[in-house]
Amino acid sequence: MIQISHLSKTFTNPDGTVISPLKDVNCTIEKGEVISIIGPSGTGKSTLLRAINMLEPPTSGQIIVDGKDVTAGAYPLDKLRMKMGMVFQSFNLFEHKTVLENIIYAPMKLLKRSREEAVEEAMELLKKVGMAQKADVYPSSLSGGQKQRVAIARSLAMHPEVILFDEPTSALDPTMVGEVLSVIRQLAKEGMTMLIVTHEMRFARDVSTRIFFMNEGVIYEDGTPEQIFSHPVRSATKAFVNRIQKLVYEIDSNAFDFLQIRTGINRFCIKYNLAEKADVAYEIVKEMLFGLLPDLRPLTLRLTHAELSGETALDFMAEGIKESPLPDGNALASIRAKAKGIVEEPTVRGFRIKVLL
Ligand code: ADP
Repeated sequence: MIQISHLSKTFTNPDGTVISPLKDVNCTIEKGEVISIIGPSGTGKSTLLRAINMLEPPTSGQIIVDGKDVTAGAYPLDKLRMKMGMVFQSFNLFEHKTVLENIIYAPMKLLKRSREEAVEEAMELLKKVGMAQKADVYPSSLSGGQKQRVAIARSLAMHPEVILFDEPTSALDPTMVGEVLSVIRQLAKEGMTMLIVTHEMRFARDVSTRIFFMNEGVIYEDGTPEQIFSHPVRSATKAFVNRIQKLVYEIDSNAFDFLQIRTGINRFCIKYNLAEKADVAYEIVKEMLFGLLPDLRPLTLRLTHAELSGETALDFMAEGIKESPLPDGNALASIRAKAKGIVEEPTVRGFRIKVLL
């Protein structure tokens, strides 16, 4: 359906510096494929999506869609964009139109649908994304997750052959990520061809038929989710998919800034969609630092999150001791009740208590 060969894109900044987010991209995308594009920031993922529908015309290379070269000047861009829906991070709804008007606008104007037909179909689509009850409101009264579901319905109303999603959940409050991902999951089940730039690793692994790992302007490794996430071949892919996010505090004395730790835990949990774990993490840190281990200083406190496995843990580590510093008895009971598990183990330089959240 889409064949991309030797695609490159170069931007020249006003100060004359040149950047090339796409260096040499080659791939073939078949009908019905769900491809997640993952990789570090700034490696050209968004630029690739925008090049595919010619929002960002490539500097060189070819994009063949349904047998026609869309990079050759003569290809009508309006036709291309009807084939390819795009859903943006920032929704891009018309704020002065109601939800329903947002959806019927393009089908009436570009597909020449009657208002009645367009409204009927729009209501079906709104039902599909769980937004039928909001048909007559303006986007400003919707949450981010609701806006994004409307944006997906708007894209579907044009009967695209493929939908390009550019980080569809990055601008959302963590509590709303799930509702948008479940709509995309549903489309995948129905066989919609989709390219999705995402940082949601577990979603990418679950929903995709294929993964493109982009690095430094090329598709550095591609394969099934199983290949890329469980058996990556190249070292940069391995490092990326297995990365663990960390937040570390060295607590040297009792004159530490507990508020700063609390704020840090909150920010970390929001950033990695763990908002529901923030309070528990904070409570456990408080009980450990003040209740169970008031004298164990220096102490290293670490909050870790492995994105792919979803494992989140609090580590309390001290050097130079071989035995668990925890008091005997049931002092740990209240932490046990909050945690998924506790592991007490010696390390090379001391001892670690790992509390799984
Ligand atoms: P990713 O989606 O992988 O994070 P992008 O494709 O957004 O990466 O960007 C890749 C690089 O290209 C970045 O350094 C970005 O600043 C640059 N870039 C993207 N769009 C433009 C533009 N319109 N003008 C100049 N530089 C751009």
